[in-house]
Amino acid sequence: MSFFNTISRSMTRAQRPSKRATTPTSATFSPTEMPPPPSPTVPSPRTSPIPRPLYLSRPFVEAALVKGNFKTIVMLPKYVDIMEWVAMNIFDFYTNLNEFYGVIAECCTQQSCPTMMAGPTLSYTWINQERKNVHLPAPTYIDYVMTWIQNLLNDEATFPTKSGHDFPQTFPSTVKHVYRQMLRVFAHVYHAHFHQLLHLRSEPHFNSLFAHFLAFGREYELLDMKDVKGSSSAPVGIGQLYDRWREMGILEG
Ligand SMILES: [Zn+2]
Repeated sequence: MSFFNTISRSMTRAQRPSKRATTPTSATFSPTEMPPPPSPTVPSPRTSPIPRPLYLSRPFVEAALVKGNFKTIVMLPKYVDIMEWVAMNIFDFYTNLNEFYGVIAECCTQQSCPTMMAGPTLSYTWINQERKNVHLPAPTYIDYVMTWIQNLLNDEATFPTKSGHDFPQTFPSTVKHVYRQMLRVFAHVYHAHFHQLLHLRSEPHFNSLFAHFLAFGREYELLDMKDVKGSSSAPVGIGQLYDRWREMGILEG
């Protein structure tokens, strides 16, 4: 069943908890307004060979809590409304990602991460109120993204939680946008903070969360391959991880 071709809902559901506590809030998005989509830019060409990142190295590339692939846990359960299922999973991904980021947030500073890097030559830019692409420090960028998502999750018109409230027609495209921004946060953490996750021995947890997130994105058409891979001049670090996990059978081809 296609998530994007289905906009119907018949079930009621329990209220989701919706408190975000880990990272500070400073962004001021209107809950009904999409933030302008940031776009990748290429800061400077690089000539020296790039060492292989730790997240692509054994044993870390295969560290996981869940063995096998994620197909079965992303499938729509019987009798569950597809909108409901996607909303619930997006909420869980957000909550988990926010907690992981909260753990490494003290290492993600304006000094350590002056731009939102996600690969050796890739840094995402933010479109500001004057519609200009600007580089933001990664902690600022991530705070904007996470605050924006939190506001959407709290917005009853976007993520309805009460009986009798329907999902809006725009729900699939909103979710796709949310997914894309969360993917960028994952991409930054892998690129810039994987060694800190290793230090905390959290890599099996984080890998499992990310593999689940990718499998879910594939299943519900939220994942755009160009967001995973980037361009040839500015590849996303996690693009190679995605390929390795496909080879290993963690993700389906
Ligand atoms: Zn950082």
